[in-house]
Amino acid sequence: MENPASALQFVHDRIAHACKIARRPVDDVTLVAVSKTHPAEAIVPLLDAGQRVFGENRVQEAQAKWPALRERYPDLALHLVGQLQSNKADDAVALFDCIHSLDRPSLVNALAKSFDKAGKQVPCFVQVDIGEEPQKGGCPIADLPALLSQARAADIPVIGLMCVPPHDIEPAPFFAFLDKLTVDNGLEGRSMGMSGDYETAIMLGATHVRVGTALFGDRS
Ligand SMILES: *Cc1c(COP(=O)(O)O)cnc(C)c1O
Repeated sequence: MENPASALQFVHDRIAHACKIARRPVDDVTLVAVSKTHPAEAIVPLLDAGQRVFGENRVQEAQAKWPALRERYPDLALHLVGQLQSNKADDAVALFDCIHSLDRPSLVNALAKSFDKAGKQVPCFVQVDIGEEPQKGGCPIADLPALLSQARAADIPVIGLMCVPPHDIEPAPFFAFLDKLTVDNGLEGRSMGMSGDYETAIMLGATHVRVGTALFGDRS
């Protein structure tokens, strides 16, 4: 990408436009800049342009990249958008400010333990397997009420639902369904929409859009 600051401006403009059409205030929507695979040198220009919320999908990669960046930009927030193995829960809790991929009972238990140990709680989205593609992770739709009550009982701060709809299908029905599930379960946050569909997601209620390629260019 030639100029990260102008890519960021472009995405901000598209977000503002989608918010206007949806009659939503623009600060309803948090842009999570997904920097996975991109080195610190590619991230610093976005930090310098004012972006403060970033997403990574792998704990180890984030551990290698972000502690040094956090020293330089202490007010940044780091979100985990990829699947989390229970044996990495301690590391994830130490590093991340938000987890978008809580999706199963064993991870509820692991995170509850990690929160206890760390004396710190990290807000979580429950990822829903909205397209019935188990390989992508996500809680089966039928299991969502049970997982949410388990999470509540374990004092996990669940702030909303997250989904990754199937590739190459119109995503709007999936976003609309995630929005409905969010409301039905008394939640607020909707983490949905990526580079190809974040405007659609915003029109259907997204509060967090996870945008990588449109900001950083293609991942090699
Ligand atoms: C990589 C990734 C994104 C960003 O995808 P782009 O199409 O590059 O914007 C968003 N969400 C998740 C869960 C991802 O793994």
